Amino acid sequence: MILKNLRTLEGKKIDMEINGDRIVKIAENIEGEGIDLGGRIVSPGLVDSHAHIDSNFLLDLCKEASTPKFEEALKVLMECKENLTENEIYSLMKKSIIYYIKAGSLYVRTHVMIDGKKWRERLNSIMKVKEEFKNKIFIQIIGFIQSYDYFNDEIEERIWKAIDFGVDGIGGQPHLQPSVEDGIRMIKKIFDIATQKGILMDFHADYSDDPSSRFSEIIVSEALRRRYFNKVSLSHLLAMHSYHSDYALRLMKWLKEAGISVIVSPITELEGSGAFEDYPKRRGIPRVREMIYNGVNVALGHDDIQNQLNPIGDGDLLKASFALMIGDYMYFSQYFEDLFKLMTYNGAKALNINEYGLKEGMKANLVVFEGNNLKDILVEIKPRRMVISNGKIVYENYSSESIAI
Ligand SMILES: [Zn+2]
Repeated sequence: MILKNLRTLEGKKIDMEINGDRIVKIAENIEGEGIDLGGRIVSPGLVDSHAHIDSNFLLDLCKEASTPKFEEALKVLMECKENLTENEIYSLMKKSIIYYIKAGSLYVRTHVMIDGKKWRERLNSIMKVKEEFKNKIFIQIIGFIQSYDYFNDEIEERIWKAIDFGVDGIGGQPHLQPSVEDGIRMIKKIFDIATQKGILMDFHADYSDDPSSRFSEIIVSEALRRRYFNKVSLSHLLAMHSYHSDYALRLMKWLKEAGISVIVSPITELEGSGAFEDYPKRRGIPRVREMIYNGVNVALGHDDIQNQLNPIGDGDLLKASFALMIGDYMYFSQYFEDLFKLMTYNGAKALNINEYGLKEGMKANLVVFEGNNLKDILVEIKPRRMVISNGKIVYENYSSESIAI
């Protein structure tokens, strides 16, 4: 298959030849019959670095929480999750996959809740879905301690069981533990296990408006002390919005040093922050532009889809980038390439995907956007024109519009 008349994120005009599941040639002109894509922008498959496939579409089956307060919304969400059958869990996961593929997200890191009841059903289902769709989408699973339950031996044991199921990494929410000591104990234990098994870690870190929430520095310190570089991510890091700039900048220096990626999910961060405040309210996105400037690897997640924590999600990373443009003042052209990097190369780095990119010999995992320049794509958020996974077209959209004025 030859794709003609494409443009890279950097604006270079290219044709591309795909053979089997590989990109075999990229050149300005390739002879032969092909699909003319009219100068549209092409990128490698998008990387959604933060998802909860086991929590998506819960509003199909359960009630809304109708509150931006995280603790209250989480309670309703947990009740819902604990009452699903394995069949329901599996069906909602399958539905999620369709949304990711349509959006061009061909690499998704999902946190799957391993505490609480129904943990076996959730792990069984995600493993089944991962295998079933492995030729269409890469799913990376983080076994994740989601609830407020005290981090005891039983939950620690659950982490080991999740590893037996085949998760790619582990994580938790240390700031939800009752004390700083308990949060630190959880972090150290997760590090003990992950370093022993050589697997990834992704913490929901300091997901709070409280500037005294500083578990990220403990995570950085553990990574440095154990020399466990480039395998740890911090999701959200909402409290960075509220830290003193002096402290925030020092933290960034150490994040870079430890090769820790920060994964922002601006839709849910904007939805949840400031919920406990009177006006003026904080709008808590961590300092993305400053982190990029200071060399921290920042990646992007869409986070939940249509559940109690995010009733309006649809899994489209372009919508997350739209929220980020507004939330962190990235609506100037100088940031447009950065926004695409968060959704592509930076995500691949956070997920430790080695084989990634638009190069000859790489897997043909591609997104062709409906737009000839980055601004139009980011602003208009149209359906993707074409999504190619492992060399095969898995999604196409030729919708045309007509307007009479
Ligand atoms: Zn999350």
